[in-house]
Amino acid sequence: MIKPDCPLCLTTGGDLVWQHPRLRVIDARDPLYPGFTRVVWKDHVEEMTDLSPLDQQMLMQVVLQVETAQRTVLKPDKINLAAFGNMVPHLHWHIIPRWTDDPHFPQPVWANLPEADVLAQQKQALRRTDILAHLDAYHAALILQLDTAFKP
Ligand SMILES: [Zn+2]
Repeated sequence: MIKPDCPLCLTTGGDLVWQHPRLRVIDARDPLYPGFTRVVWKDHVEEMTDLSPLDQQMLMQVVLQVETAQRTVLKPDKINLAAFGNMVPHLHWHIIPRWTDDPHFPQPVWANLPEADVLAQQKQALRRTDILAHLDAYHAALILQLDTAFKP
């Protein structure tokens, strides 16, 4: 089912990393948070409980595979998992690798950007460069995991 005014029905919502007939995994292309990944249910549903128990299980399994690949390859200090749908009420999960020196830590990435001194900004830029250098390896590991877990 597609809703004509819904951005996640009309567009991929980011760079496609992996897909399945029921869901897709996208790189959110967040300039401040490389590695920020979303799992988007393909049909337009709003809440987890709109899915059958088996579909709920599959969606969470994929979310946890993303978390595992981030921990294995990107080695963040923390992983943030979130599902809101307040702005775009189409079921999707955010999986965000976090570092204690990232721009918002310990606040959520949606908080107002705190002021950072030059040294902190340099550290943040170095961190982003390091994450970007591992992004292909992260995506490759994630694709391999998901292909293995959801073999046809
Ligand atoms: Zn939608």
